[in-house]
Amino acid sequence: MNPTDQNAVEKTRFDNPGAVRVGIVGLGTVGSGVARLLINEAERLRRHAGCELQLARVVVRDLGKPRDCQLPDGTLSNDIAKIAEDEDIDVVAQLMGGIEPARSVMVQLLESGKDVVTANKALLAEHGPELFDRARQLGRCIAFEASVAGGIPIIANLCQCLSANQIISLCGILNGTSNFILSQMEECGANYDAAVSEAQQRGFAEADPAMDVDGTDAAQKLAILAHLAFGARVNWADIPRNGIDSLETIDLRFASELGYRIKLLAIAQLADGSDPNGGLDLHVSPTLVPVGTPLSDVHGANNAISVVGDAVGTVFYEGLGAGQMPTASAVVADLVDTAVGRAQLTFRTVRAWSNREPLVQARAPELAPGRYYLRLMVDDHPGVMAEVTGILGQNEISIASLIQHEPEFEGDSQTVPLVIMSHLTHEGAIAKAVVQIDQLSSVMEGTVRMRVLD
Ligand code: NAP
Repeated sequence: MNPTDQNAVEKTRFDNPGAVRVGIVGLGTVGSGVARLLINEAERLRRHAGCELQLARVVVRDLGKPRDCQLPDGTLSNDIAKIAEDEDIDVVAQLMGGIEPARSVMVQLLESGKDVVTANKALLAEHGPELFDRARQLGRCIAFEASVAGGIPIIANLCQCLSANQIISLCGILNGTSNFILSQMEECGANYDAAVSEAQQRGFAEADPAMDVDGTDAAQKLAILAHLAFGARVNWADIPRNGIDSLETIDLRFASELGYRIKLLAIAQLADGSDPNGGLDLHVSPTLVPVGTPLSDVHGANNAISVVGDAVGTVFYEGLGAGQMPTASAVVADLVDTAVGRAQLTFRTVRAWSNREPLVQARAPELAPGRYYLRLMVDDHPGVMAEVTGILGQNEISIASLIQHEPEFEGDSQTVPLVIMSHLTHEGAIAKAVVQIDQLSSVMEGTVRMRVLD
């Protein structure tokens, strides 16, 4: 079969509705969940897809490893050619992590005429343009619902269900590990290190959680969503980002006193109402979210995304953003969509990494508007407040509220926290003011600066 002949591929598949043969590369956490769903829920999936999704081959690295799912005899191999060269396999769930060999395996599968389903957001963030171009040249499709927010069907919603809308903003808790750590710090009073270790013990954080807690993972997911929602062409590494790795419990306490919770938010928002010509503001940062709003009530390892469209208004999604079965749920839905031909249609129209002109450009980060929380550690002597407020005034930043508690005990250190909530200003102005504030001799530590969500 000529893999470039789209009609030939589709004709064969849909003329034979009896079975779509599925391959899986990678039988780890997600791959085992996918295999289990394909095997245990075969009848339900057949009813959904109108044809059988038959698990034909599974390729792993180490054949000797114990597996927690029972595969049909003769399915398992450690040779990728067993899938690539099997002309009867239509679609492959590519579920190995990392960049290489995941990238070359995906290219090999596409070149062998397979459609590919992936959960690998890091691979798409690094090599999306190349992989999508190659798939388009070959008349193949890549489905990637599981790559962002696990079980929450945000990609299908952006690509299909919300297509009548100009998306105005998208605001999400996209990293479950960070949200779990923040929940532990807030609800159990744990410090950052204790919260990380609890997350690791409960399986919510990797041994090295760096990319989860420093904002990288959320920025990679935000870049994918910004492609889909706004037709932006954004490189994740250009998105300004701060993580939760330097957060202190004192800031959670002040946030609570002020009526907020701290969440690691990934935000993409049109700068000028619903007009894409004004540009797009993007950032990932720990943010004070008002208590009582849906995002503030997202606890534990959950993810959530709030999308505002010009026709639909606000839509809010919440659910598990990772884990075996939520992620497998998204992968299997993509396999069903590929089996029935929906994924191919979506792939042809999707704006992610297309060669179409971008619909919106990212705006210079310093122009992004926002309110801010500042915490300074100041030497408690007369005149400090005037120095600090003077700098804010020079930068045209007005103060909405201010907290300074007395030292708890006579003889305590005279370094005290001073918390300032600003009115609306710009990232550039606040960044400049903080540099000047940190040069004051009465300011004893670097100022903590966080955005405030209105
Ligand atoms: P994992 O548990 O580490 O499993 C990876 C699998 O890939 C293993 O079965 C491994 O084989 C196989 N593999 C690695 N190199 C291979 C090679 N060269 N040839 C053949 N097989 C190879 O990973 P995971 O947690 O399932 O994650 C898979 C992907 O899903 C990643 O991209 C991840 O970012 C994404 N994802 C995961 C989650 C989650 O909750 N875990 C959520 C969303 C997205 P062996 O078993 O033989 O070593």
